[in-house]
Amino acid sequence: MTHCQNPKGLPDAAGDSSMLRVGVLALQGDVREHINSLTSLNVAVQKVRNPEELITVNALVIPGGESTTISMLANRVGLISPLREFIKNGHAVYGSCAGMILLADEILDGKAGQETIGGLDMTVRRNAFGRQVDSFETDLNIKDIGDAFKAVFIRAPWVERVGANVEVLASVKTDSGSDHPVMVRQGFLLASSFHPELTNDNRVHQYFVEMAKSATSVKS
Ligand code: GLN
Repeated sequence: MTHCQNPKGLPDAAGDSSMLRVGVLALQGDVREHINSLTSLNVAVQKVRNPEELITVNALVIPGGESTTISMLANRVGLISPLREFIKNGHAVYGSCAGMILLADEILDGKAGQETIGGLDMTVRRNAFGRQVDSFETDLNIKDIGDAFKAVFIRAPWVERVGANVEVLASVKTDSGSDHPVMVRQGFLLASSFHPELTNDNRVHQYFVEMAKSATSVKS
């Protein structure tokens, strides 16, 4: 692989798993909680606030928060196309809650003109659980991660449609009796409706770090 230089002259970390450096998109939302979860797993973590900082990381977490605000701010700092490019280049990206909405190719109940970064072939309904309960916790059984994961949902989206290449890792039964996916993976993209960063259970972050390591070795 070619080693690019970012504008600050630092080597591009992509391609070397020993140099795994995970960024957390730090425009709005629960950035600190994701940084704490990742730091406790002994990986290098840094905030990503602009295109220059994005180029210094080889995996990215998009936090929970407010998807409309995050996409508006990403647009303002010129991060939308670099983020799409980052995904297209095969980097691992994990979005929780608002982050899940931002990774969806299609959203329902978005604000007029709400833009997503996309990449994950799925349709996500914003604030989907709002009609039953705004916030709740439930124990989830997550494929490849484990059971009894205490999942915290806060004005959360759910997934209404997944493409053929999307794997559903966890679902929740809603009031109407139908199952809706709440955690999905497509290649090196991972998304959850819930907030593992708000608990002390680091299994989802650990899973993402392993994913990010294999993404970097595939790229090298
Ligand atoms: N409802 C929020 C949105 O649309 C997501 C909520 C969250 O991230 N906790 O962005």
